[in-house]
Amino acid sequence: MSNLFYQGRGRKPTLDQARGVYIWDTDGKRYLDGSSGAMVCNIGHSHPAVLEAMQRQMEKSTFGYRLHFETEAAERCAARLAGMMPEGLDRVFFVSGGSEAVESGMKLARQYAVATGQGSRWKVISRAPSYHGCTLGALAVTSYSPLTGPFAPMMQPMPKVPAPRAYLDGLRADDPATGRHYADMLEQKILAEGPDSVLAFLVEPVGGASTGALVPPAGYMEAVREICDRHGVLLIMDEVMTGAGRTGRFLGCEHWGVRPDIVVMSKGLGAGYVPFGAMVADSRLVEPVLDAGGFAHGFTYAGNPLACATGLAVLDVIEHEGLCANAAAMGDRLMARLTALMQKYEIIGDVRGKGLLTAFELMADRDSKAPLPPEWNAHQKIVDLAYDAGLIVYSRRTRDGVAGDHILVCPPLTVTETHLDEIIEGLETALDGFIAQMPVAAGVAR
Ligand code: PLP
Repeated sequence: MSNLFYQGRGRKPTLDQARGVYIWDTDGKRYLDGSSGAMVCNIGHSHPAVLEAMQRQMEKSTFGYRLHFETEAAERCAARLAGMMPEGLDRVFFVSGGSEAVESGMKLARQYAVATGQGSRWKVISRAPSYHGCTLGALAVTSYSPLTGPFAPMMQPMPKVPAPRAYLDGLRADDPATGRHYADMLEQKILAEGPDSVLAFLVEPVGGASTGALVPPAGYMEAVREICDRHGVLLIMDEVMTGAGRTGRFLGCEHWGVRPDIVVMSKGLGAGYVPFGAMVADSRLVEPVLDAGGFAHGFTYAGNPLACATGLAVLDVIEHEGLCANAAAMGDRLMARLTALMQKYEIIGDVRGKGLLTAFELMADRDSKAPLPPEWNAHQKIVDLAYDAGLIVYSRRTRDGVAGDHILVCPPLTVTETHLDEIIEGLETALDGFIAQMPVAAGVAR
């Protein structure tokens, strides 16, 4: 009996050490970290340059409260990050995690509206399904019923539009009419809610765990930007998972050349070395808020020098080692390898993703897109079988969290072709094991 508890009663082996893409437990078993933790450890584990930067900062100071001191680490990290953002996004507010970043983005948007005489705007439209964090504000814009359901009475309901899941709706993702079709739903929602009441649209450029790496159809992101502009709605890009190179560009939104008003980031920014995140905004939003008395928001640990020095070192590694380019190249190869698995495994119904944010979805039938029976718990079984085989992958359910199993394959951006061979081998072992124990059921492919 442990004093610790998290989601459930399950216990895992004890971690001993981690290097690069590998982790060892205290029994000496080696695992390939095919999910970078929770899509966090983008530059691999125990990178010597980051450890050294942390050590150097720790010897000087680990904490300086931002109301008492400026720190060189925070200043330099903010300047570096702003330099990697789309033009105009030059004001950085540090936080310690993704939910904090999302809350900060929504609250800055709200204070901007209040400061500029648009106090009627407060609704943040987001997509279903989506995941934006577990705090009550971020949860209100999340759509994933196992996580939101119990807390519904405690949250302010926020409007949702369908995520652009062309493959489920029988539409072609490469047809700009498809992108327009889903973007139109956003415009209709803004009109139905009353444009003067809508503050922002919050979107993951490539879907994360809730959709299993959903890539938007052609034209969608560009149309979303136009619609937001037309109605004075701010566009907040949730780059918590996609940011810091995961999709093959520093930000996911760069794939479509769309410039958001606010970007929120975390995971890959601290890269597993420290809890870290940022909300980056256009000065046009920040200045009126500061003029009106200031941003009424902040977390105690935000912008501490240890986190910022670490974040700066992580950004250096991403840039100096060309990790965005490696994520793009290795991502293409991984997608091709996963797509090839569809020849062997009839239950893989869809493969999708960008860069090293990739996923495959299991289906009972590819034509009807029917999910596997949820009680089979396929996603968890496959994750467990892969784990036994020494491969860590991540899974969730695509259909509002209750059905439609998908597996995310998101190794560190440092992976090589040899690592990809190992990942595919581990997945084959897990899929073979699952199929061997899968009940025989009418209409379910094997
Ligand atoms: N936004 C997205 C897209 C995420 O994937 C996550 C976490 O998975 C969050 C926000 C919340 O981040 P955190 O768990 O660090 O609070």
